[in-house]
Amino acid sequence: MELNDLYRDVILDHNRRPRNFGGLEPADATVEGFNPMCGDRLTVRLRLADDTISDIRFEGQGCAISTASASLMTEAVKGKTRAEALQLFDRVHQLLTDDAATGEEELGKLAALSGVREYPARVKCASLCWHTLASALKSAHPQALPAVSTE
Ligand code: ZN
Repeated sequence: MELNDLYRDVILDHNRRPRNFGGLEPADATVEGFNPMCGDRLTVRLRLADDTISDIRFEGQGCAISTASASLMTEAVKGKTRAEALQLFDRVHQLLTDDAATGEEELGKLAALSGVREYPARVKCASLCWHTLASALKSAHPQALPAVSTE
């Protein structure tokens, strides 16, 4: 089987049977993401234990790429610390946008998203869940962020 076929099968499988799909109550953070270019909408909910993502689920409606990407993301970041998850976001973003990206094999199933590089209009479909995750991680512990004065 060609690598491209394998990658396509991973995307199709995660779109048909998204992992960690549904609600999560209570959650430490709930953030909605929207990609107006395609119409993808999803909500990411997560729980943190200390600084580790102990549970994460998503729901919403979007194209196959956005659903598969969110499914793969939830599998990849569960059990990771906030810093590790954000590092992974950087790696995935590179994978999606940079032809010279290396280290695909270390990304495991997430490497299946590399095919999106050939379709720049779909990059936002694949990265929507990660942007949503990043803001969920920020909002989960607002007290850890520098205080912002509104006055
Ligand atoms: Zn989309």
